[in-house]
Amino acid sequence: MIDEANSAKKRTAVRSCPVCGHESWPIAYGMMMPDDMAQHPRTEFAGCCFMHEERLNPTTGQLEYGVPEWACQNVECRYRWW
Ligand SMILES: [Zn+2]
Repeated sequence: MIDEANSAKKRTAVRSCPVCGHESWPIAYGMMMPDDMAQHPRTEFAGCCFMHEERLNPTTGQLEYGVPEWACQNVECRYRWW
């Protein structure tokens, strides 16, 4: 569980998953040193692998491609979006 008392809003912002409402973290791409990672405790690190995903835009009905910027931290959801 998340200890809200210790999660004093630092630099890393979190968002709520649009699917399940769980806390979601920003996804960081590229090489990160361990020191850098330590400064971003609420960030999901994806390394250098850019994973393009597709989605159906609910408002336009168009198929869109993009790189997810947010990752739901609910293990049963794991929804990623941008
Ligand atoms: Zn979710």
